[in-house]
Amino acid sequence: MPETAGDVQLFINGGYRDGSAGRQDVVSPVTGQVIGSVGIPGQDDIDAAVGAARAAGQAWARVNVFERAAVCHAIGDGITARREELARLQTLEQGKPLLESLADVDEAATLFHLHAEDAVRLTGETISSTSSAKRMFTFYRPVGTWAIITPWNFPLLMFAEFVAPGLATGNSHVVKPPAHTAFTVLRATQILRDAGLPDGLVNVLPGEGPTGHALVQHPGIDAIGFIGSSATGAKIQANAGLKRSIMECSGNGPLVVLSDADVAAAAKAAVYGAYLCSGQVCCATERVLVDRAVHDAFLEAVVAEADAVRLGDPFDEETTLGPLNNEAVAAKMDRHVADGEARGAKLLRGGRRQPGHPTDLYYEFTVADKVPADSLLATEESFGPVVPVITADGDDDLLQIANRDRLGLQAAVFTRDISRAYRFIEELAVGQVVVNDSTCWWDVNMPFGGAGGRGTGWGRIGGKHTLLGMTDLRTAAISL
Ligand code: NAD
Repeated sequence: MPETAGDVQLFINGGYRDGSAGRQDVVSPVTGQVIGSVGIPGQDDIDAAVGAARAAGQAWARVNVFERAAVCHAIGDGITARREELARLQTLEQGKPLLESLADVDEAATLFHLHAEDAVRLTGETISSTSSAKRMFTFYRPVGTWAIITPWNFPLLMFAEFVAPGLATGNSHVVKPPAHTAFTVLRATQILRDAGLPDGLVNVLPGEGPTGHALVQHPGIDAIGFIGSSATGAKIQANAGLKRSIMECSGNGPLVVLSDADVAAAAKAAVYGAYLCSGQVCCATERVLVDRAVHDAFLEAVVAEADAVRLGDPFDEETTLGPLNNEAVAAKMDRHVADGEARGAKLLRGGRRQPGHPTDLYYEFTVADKVPADSLLATEESFGPVVPVITADGDDDLLQIANRDRLGLQAAVFTRDISRAYRFIEELAVGQVVVNDSTCWWDVNMPFGGAGGRGTGWGRIGGKHTLLGMTDLRTAAISL
């Protein structure tokens, strides 16, 4: 296991420098040890990063798309060449099992390759004119300089989700990861340099809310790419004025088990969706809505699956559940479990932090039955390793409970009946519906994002849709 991450600096205009607001020590959720420190930017650093990004972006927008794509491919290759190193560093700072970090790194590399190809194939159209003396056509222009604000649950992947399509389409970026999970992204900046990326196109400023706030407001920032909680997303929106944005915010499941479901498969999916990244995933199994007809069989299968989850050292390849990332998220789990029990939920497994580990963040895999619809486990994103089971009577009831929630990101539905599946695909108020797999199933090429008006943001991550979100449609009208 790497014992330290080192003392790292800000990445501005292709070089490394100390932050004028000092340094912050970082403690690993895995070991409880200080693994290094990060530089914290002051306003002068923010101005320098934005200035560098604007200057570099103007030149990059004039580079032809095949050359931009070649640099993106080189970045993807560079990430793959250093996958083990990046994955170990990410596990040390984030806490997720090493196998998950390896998958994240692979997906990040794939995104640079895929978006390079997407950008090459991004074409406009010719438009018919009512005038015989006019010709019209459209094409895509980069929006400009983006503030990319990311969370701590997928440090490298979320960086790649915006920076890969952004670079491929000619944008420049100032990236703000949380200070305590910035090491992997800062290490990846070495790969950007080695791949020949021009200086200034990607700048990295680790920091917390105030740094993000300053970036959003900065007059040199044209657009905002945000991944994080809905509460923060709303603050950013209030602050961003008319700046373009892609907002990827909180989720609250659900996984829905209909009366004809394969309960063994549903149970496996529910448990997987709650232990992946310790449940700290926007599309985690936050709520499980089960038809009463299959409740007992489903629960028996869930408990058996839960007993197979291995909590422990995330560097151990037997481990499927690592520590939570930070004290705030662990305290939230404590609060949600206590509230559920106080309101009548029945804990079948877990429900507490497990003693005997290097930190107090190793949370037992938790299964709760009879979860009341008004409890925090049901109404809020718990963001921990918990399967909260809510019982309902028939498809109408399941749909009604599912859509009562104010967040609508991704849902899963288990049924053997294509017509019933189709009804849920159409009527669940979410961005994506997965049939017969986990809420945590996704594909690198899948357009992913929230349903309109459902408190979980807008825009899409994945495929050509991110490119469309990070470009402006330019229309030309030529007089003959
Ligand atoms: P968070 O909202 O606390 O922080 C996200 C980022 O915003 C961090 O970099 C933070 O420093 C920054 N920030 C905080 N206050 C800010 C402000 N006022 N202005 C600008 N930036 C500010 O979220 P988190 O706890 O880091 O991440 C977990 C959340 O992210 C969960 O709700 C999860 O569902 C969501 N998430 C969503 C997706 C998605 O694709 N929809 C993916 C991953 C995570």
